[in-house]
Amino acid sequence: MITKTSIFKKHLIYIQSMIGKKKSNSIKLPTPQYTMEDLKKADDPIIFTRANAIFEEGRVDRLRPLYNGYAASVRGTQTYEVELSPRRVDEGSCTCPMGREEKLCKHIIAVAVAVINQNDA
Ligand SMILES: [Zn+2]
Repeated sequence: MITKTSIFKKHLIYIQSMIGKKKSNSIKLPTPQYTMEDLKKADDPIIFTRANAIFEEGRVDRLRPLYNGYAASVRGTQTYEVELSPRRVDEGSCTCPMGREEKLCKHIIAVAVAVINQNDA
């Protein structure tokens, strides 16, 4: 017997398998309203440089659309969960100590860099 729940679960597993594929462009992300230039100006240049390194090292994981933007996991000494708005880079959150103080951290910027790169691809 097929229940609504099992259909939902199948759908969820499908979505998760799509997300699991590295560099998959099959999930359409909302277009960000900011550019790399905006990111450079948004925060300390050191944080911008570190954020780019995080992205280049492939530490932005599971970038996915969220009901109001994007979500991703950023791997470092710990894994932090980032949520980000497509409108403004400073409308975001991160579970790291800086993020919890509502400061714009390198993880949020790294996810923003990933979003911009995904859209250019
Ligand atoms: Zn952070």
